[in-house]
Amino acid sequence: MKINRIPLLGIVLITFLASCGNKTASKTNEEDANFEKFRDYFVESLWKISPSDAIYAGYHKYDSILIAPSAENREFAIKEYKALGDSIKLFDEKKLSELNRIDLWMMRDKVEGSIWYINEFKSHEWNPANYNVAGEFAEILNGSYDKLDNRLKMFSRRLEQVPLYYKIAKLQLKTPSIEHTDLAILQLDGSVEEVFGKSLKDSVNVSSLSADEKVKLIAWADTAKKYMIDFSGWLKVQRKSLNENNSTNFRIGQKLYDKKFQYDIQSGYTAEEIYQKAIKRKAELHSEMAKISRQLWPKYFGKTPMPTDSLLLIRKVIDTLSINHVNRDSFLQSIEQQIPQLVKFINDKNLIYIDPSKPLVVRKTPAYMEGGGAGASISAPGPYDKGANTYYNVSPLSGYTAEQAESYLREYNHYILQILNIHEAIPGHYTQLVYSNQSPSLVKSVLGNGAMVEGWAVYSERMMLENGYGNNEPEMWLMYYKWHLRSVCNTILDHEVHCNALSEEDAKKLLINGAFQQTAEAEGKWRRVKLTQVQLASYYTGFTEIYDLREEVKKRLGDKFDLKKFHEKFLSYGSAPVKYIRELMLEDLKNNK
Ligand code: ZN
Ligand code: ZN
Repeated sequence: MKINRIPLLGIVLITFLASCGNKTASKTNEEDANFEKFRDYFVESLWKISPSDAIYAGYHKYDSILIAPSAENREFAIKEYKALGDSIKLFDEKKLSELNRIDLWMMRDKVEGSIWYINEFKSHEWNPANYNVAGEFAEILNGSYDKLDNRLKMFSRRLEQVPLYYKIAKLQLKTPSIEHTDLAILQLDGSVEEVFGKSLKDSVNVSSLSADEKVKLIAWADTAKKYMIDFSGWLKVQRKSLNENNSTNFRIGQKLYDKKFQYDIQSGYTAEEIYQKAIKRKAELHSEMAKISRQLWPKYFGKTPMPTDSLLLIRKVIDTLSINHVNRDSFLQSIEQQIPQLVKFINDKNLIYIDPSKPLVVRKTPAYMEGGGAGASISAPGPYDKGANTYYNVSPLSGYTAEQAESYLREYNHYILQILNIHEAIPGHYTQLVYSNQSPSLVKSVLGNGAMVEGWAVYSERMMLENGYGNNEPEMWLMYYKWHLRSVCNTILDHEVHCNALSEEDAKKLLINGAFQQTAEAEGKWRRVKLTQVQLASYYTGFTEIYDLREEVKKRLGDKFDLKKFHEKFLSYGSAPVKYIRELMLEDLKNNK
């Protein structure tokens, strides 16, 4: 059987290093200059190893290559990663600038993590959802990076490799997990028509491809469709005979969890340390929330006797406060109005510099992005699309029934909506993005650390309230704690489900009773925790690391500590793991003393 090979890199690498290894030239940042050249080569190599990742990053040079998921190709990828890792070792990190040093550490982690995923995590053996080619085809088909004709030509060449891809995919799956098999079937069946159906045919018809090319492309698309449907049918047959004994447990277990946490989060803490911190934090939050609820009870319930169960008490107060929400027709407008108010608060309190030349554009979520369930999100340009606008997408709630809208608006009530704006926009994700664009590094945008990015947004919520946002109203604090409890409990849930075999019933108890969530939210979270690992812990981990770093810097600087300077310095390192920013910031403090 013919196997698609990954284009060879190793030989180029040696030549490349020979040409820039001259150590006797001028001393001005020669190491930096060499490193920066290598860094470009490194990113290009990642794209060659995985053209699919490249497509999602908006890099389209390798669109025509669909790598077959064979053992031989995995071996090959490992060899390439190892060669990159060996090259990284040739640089003297002490001679590099701070920003380049972080890049080097991130590149080293990426190499180690990628090898671990192939050798140890082995999701190719148990996760059939890995084998859905539709997503990348959709990116090519719907992309705006090139003319339709050019995109369709790449599309066509990629299509020809689909039959071999699925023949090989069947050979890789050994003991699929039941949950991931269900997911794979759902996604395959859902995407076949979407990507290889009518919209493709419409695009082909309006293109200027020759009649011959058109016929060929449609024929290949029909073949690809057939292979996807066949693969899904094959999974359905397998699914019938899957049971506890012949499948992989969706709970990955402590050993894999600890390592995945290490590679995905790149935290200074271990998974276990973060889990212990979250347990402690949950208890603190409950006791703080009970205190506020007791204080608020007479204001909202008058002489009605207070529930003796403190969790019930908290829930009652939260439910009552949630009635205070904006009208469904003014949802977008009220978000728009809040943005300048947040900016003003930050300027008045001197919390962080907000560049006035880069205002945020609030818009209705475009139709093609709807359905994700998120009411508000930031659309940031990808690493290869830096000039594009950044948008704050807000769901117009147009598809909602009155009942659904009411439930949604209660969840994003008067208080939570403000916290959401802080998190998504200012000074959360949007502000962080503006800062990270000022220290442009392809490595940091391609390998950007999710825990740092989410951690900053979660940190900024607390920082705003600490500085008096919301006038220190107890209602605002209570709702903030409820919101914060979500990331704390997500961390506990993720850990206990994957490492301690937490049951579905207990998981829902944790979310509904322990974190005051609605049943629908808890059910969605249960589905998510079965299919993902570690990601749910990233918010609280990033938050904890940033918060702890701030307290550490505060302690060291005493009355010389300046919150604004801390924030600006912290964000100047870009979307890097907090542990690396920490190392450099603390080193700087030592040197400046
Ligand atoms: Zn209402
Ligand atoms: Zn976020």
